[in-house]
Amino acid sequence: MVHSCAKCQQRATVYDVGGSKCDFCFQQAIIHNFKTTISRKGLAQFGDSVGVAASGGYSSQALVDLLGRSLFEREDGKTSRMKLKVTLFHIDFESPLHSSNSNIEVIQSLAAKYSFRLCTARDNHSCQQLWRETFERIAWKDFKDTSDFEELSRILVYRMIAFLAQSQGCKIVFDGLSAHSVCRNILTSISSGNGFAIPFEVSPADISGRFFDVAIHHPQYDITDRQLMRYVWIRKIDFVAPNLTLSRLTASVDSLTMSFLKDLEEQHRSTIPNILRTSSKVAVPLQFSYCSFCRVPVGSNGKLVSPLTWKIHDKKDNEEKVVTRLCKACQHRQRRMSMETFQLFLSSLMAFDKALEYKEDYG
Ligand SMILES: [Zn+2]
Ligand SMILES: [Zn+2]
Repeated sequence: MVHSCAKCQQRATVYDVGGSKCDFCFQQAIIHNFKTTISRKGLAQFGDSVGVAASGGYSSQALVDLLGRSLFEREDGKTSRMKLKVTLFHIDFESPLHSSNSNIEVIQSLAAKYSFRLCTARDNHSCQQLWRETFERIAWKDFKDTSDFEELSRILVYRMIAFLAQSQGCKIVFDGLSAHSVCRNILTSISSGNGFAIPFEVSPADISGRFFDVAIHHPQYDITDRQLMRYVWIRKIDFVAPNLTLSRLTASVDSLTMSFLKDLEEQHRSTIPNILRTSSKVAVPLQFSYCSFCRVPVGSNGKLVSPLTWKIHDKKDNEEKVVTRLCKACQHRQRRMSMETFQLFLSSLMAFDKALEYKEDYG
């Protein structure tokens, strides 16, 4: 039996949630979804300066390409109504879990294609310093848990993206989080005792204020991984099959949750939308603070730990006591890591946040 596109009746090549589609109609549907999320959820306004967190993985490749097409492609002679000033931010540091060399090339070529500016962490003094103070000084044998490792990379990368964005005057950043990644974050929030953060995780707009003046939005929050991979593949950008870089032996909470979701979705197609829909019903709390370590919003279950003291490097060589609060996940993390490593990370991250909060010129 030959399927035909539900929209234009041509031969269908994509079997998608809304029925079979041809390549062309599939791409149009994805672009439409992307644009609608940006406008309906108020992620950016006409003329805004917008940053993109571009790791170079398939979902950020799709993000850059979708943004480029939304801005420059004109269908049926109509002028695109979107106008944004775009800068791509790429963290080009190496860690055992975060390799950058192969990814920077695809980002460079996408940036050139749409004349987007590209800004990398290596060019920024403060980001270099944070990286040196944390990842380069770590004793890797201290990490027995792959999940902690992945989490720490993510925590550092998001901090740096926010910092780079601020240094370039971008208060809005888009990241490539897909429906799958949002569901993974929801499920891992529940399993690690951070259920409080769910309304923040499920929202396409960053309503947490966790990075001070910089908001990191998720315009692909209801596009699935399968759709994004298909999109990148059709566009012949630089398809890299995901999940093959990590060996199965080093399964983490992240990768296990992802494969759990994938299996579940194959049996029940509505799994991902159901998780998103149900989670979006949780009310956004009125009062909250942030975990000092991972910046996730915390309520009363956030534990206050002994105030951290560090020397401020000013002329008087002052000391300052800083209130530290940890979410449930970071409380457990603290127990798994050595005291020394945890403190090292915490004080570096908090010093970095101070620079982010007060917009000090560390560039
Ligand atoms: Zn079609
Ligand atoms: Zn935390």
